Amino acid sequence: MSILNTLKSFFTSPSNSNALMLYVKCKRCGTPLAVRVNLANDLNADYDSGGYVLYKEMMDSKCFTLMRAEIRFDAARRIVEQKIDKGEFITREEYEAMVDEGRKTKDE
Ligand SMILES: [Zn+2]
Repeated sequence: MSILNTLKSFFTSPSNSNALMLYVKCKRCGTPLAVRVNLANDLNADYDSGGYVLYKEMMDSKCFTLMRAEIRFDAARRIVEQKIDKGEFITREEYEAMVDEGRKTKDE
């Protein structure tokens, strides 16, 4: 179900300040993935720290590895800690470079 939500969120809603983009890559095959998070709806209150925590599952489209991200936020919804199982966080620049690279390889 969370995968469906992830897909759906790609196509809904224009950019707003509650949106956060996560860029990750699969540790197994290196496929880059961009996942949109809604900071207003997707975060769970973390009563221990007074902040928030987000659990996100995503699957890459090449080897179908299911990656589980756990991201912790402070009370102002700033990221304080992030980890991901079976994947790796990358920057937006890295993501875009990898997507470009993928397109080039496909064309040739
Ligand atoms: Zn993969």
